[in-house]
Amino acid sequence: MTDCLFCGIVAEKVKANVVFKNDYVVVFKDINPKAPVHLLIIPRKHIAGVLDIEPEDSAIIGEIFQVAARLARDHGIAESGFRVTVNSGPDAGQSVFHLHYHLLGGRQMTWPPG
Ligand code: 5GP
Ligand code: ZN
Repeated sequence: MTDCLFCGIVAEKVKANVVFKNDYVVVFKDINPKAPVHLLIIPRKHIAGVLDIEPEDSAIIGEIFQVAARLARDHGIAESGFRVTVNSGPDAGQSVFHLHYHLLGGRQMTWPPG
């Protein structure tokens, strides 16, 4: 999708601090981090959000969680704990409409989220 910011990052037309990529996903540092570790895991495929995930996207979603676990280990937050979060819609504060999973860790999280 040409006017999508995160598609621009996937296509390497928009700069980002990319920490991991494979055939399915790209992972980069959030520009406005909310925790010592704050990464965004996105599918290469443009999927607007949770409501737009199709049955054929199951492998992508599985890959996202495997990558989240790998990156949590790589960033030393697997044992201390971390959160994988997706915001959907206005009440959750979704601001970018290309599916992205926040991987947050390195500090004590509060529950419930604000
Ligand atoms: P949302 O609010 O949609 O769940 O999350 C969007 C996230 O994308 C926010 O945490 C925001 O800081 C991040 N973000 C927005 N624009 C950019 C950008 O151009 N580069 C990077 N690295 N992160 C971005
Ligand atoms: Zn996109």
